[in-house]
Amino acid sequence: MVRLHFLGGAREVGRNAILLESDRARLLLDYGVKLNDAPEFPAHIRATDIDGIIIAHCHLDHSGGVPIFYLSERKPFFATPLTTELTKILIKDFLKLSSYFLPFEYLELEKMMRQRNDLGYGMEVKFKDVNFRFLNAGHIPGSAMVELEADGKRILYTGDFNTIKTRLVHEAKIPRRSYDAVIIESTYATTDHPERRSLEEEFIREIRSVLDNEGKVLIPAFAVGRSQEVMSILNAYGLGSKAVVDGMARLVNEALMNHPDYLRDPKTFIKVVNEVKEVKGWRDRREALRRNGIIVSPSGMLEGGNALFYMEHLAMGEENAIFLVSFQIPGSGGAKLLETGMFTIKGRDEAVRAKVKRFDFSSHAGKTQLEDFLKGLEGKPDVYVIHGEPQNCEALAQFARDELGLNSVAPNQGESFTV
Ligand SMILES: [Zn+2]
Ligand SMILES: [Zn+2]
Repeated sequence: MVRLHFLGGAREVGRNAILLESDRARLLLDYGVKLNDAPEFPAHIRATDIDGIIIAHCHLDHSGGVPIFYLSERKPFFATPLTTELTKILIKDFLKLSSYFLPFEYLELEKMMRQRNDLGYGMEVKFKDVNFRFLNAGHIPGSAMVELEADGKRILYTGDFNTIKTRLVHEAKIPRRSYDAVIIESTYATTDHPERRSLEEEFIREIRSVLDNEGKVLIPAFAVGRSQEVMSILNAYGLGSKAVVDGMARLVNEALMNHPDYLRDPKTFIKVVNEVKEVKGWRDRREALRRNGIIVSPSGMLEGGNALFYMEHLAMGEENAIFLVSFQIPGSGGAKLLETGMFTIKGRDEAVRAKVKRFDFSSHAGKTQLEDFLKGLEGKPDVYVIHGEPQNCEALAQFARDELGLNSVAPNQGESFTV
């Protein structure tokens, strides 16, 4: 018998966590955080009640809570080597920004890193009575789907995935296998993304028009994944030399270059990195405001991070532009800005005068890709839809039921199921 317990990320984006329980093993699939004013964690589970952890990719909504399990215990965790390197960078930064709210310290991160088990795509692991392996998820470098087998059941956890090729990573392939259960993300279950090439061209056109009018462009972007994708696009259209990138860029780029297998085109990536200037401190930051036309900086949803510093200086100039390129969780600074045109600057709500626009450069499968993914699987898996706003989880679950005749639910937080 295999049981699935949905501890977090059910009907929401953030704090993904699922416990897979077989006869002899209890494996956690991700243990993320939701980044609000105070970070929110998945349902509590004691370290003594798990045997190991699998991290699908480094983003904090999948990895940010994992150090909790190293306060007293030493459980192994499994990830691709690149995911482990990037997770270390992101959690270290998370500790710097939010330590006040966190139940762990740097010491726990160090203890965690001593329990790493590196796993490349396709390698088999036998863990008690569970066998599992990673498949490329196409979301960001190092990202993985997890295929698990226990008690004669085959289960797929997609993590975050993308079946469309991006500049940074190869797309995920639909596994031509039959599963008994599939746990699938649904971030964009009701939205199709625009065609990539024409979106890139529109993005570049808009940037050029701001630069031609002596304006500056702020592109808030996640430090890992979207920042490098944006840098690659700017480079491809000859704008790389006009851009600076802020926020752990050096560390992240080094990690990526140390694991070139996870990049679609490592040679081009090295060129991109060499061309774009990195912001290394406050001097560079002020300098960037004086000189450079394009500033790429976290956080992607304008929730904390150096993007807020740039917002203070750029938001009130009508010659400037704020171009959002990430998913905006409802309630985030970026979502509010898009909806109302307002942004809190130095504690005051201000009507932003810079041009604000969102470009849907997603690293998540869109509606059609999510549906095609489920269609492409063999067999009759039970489908559990998570990692989306409630209406998106519902919509994809309904598609699986009505169009594919599958058993499908959008679990609630805390619900458990038997596969
Ligand atoms: Zn992600
Ligand atoms: Zn995610």
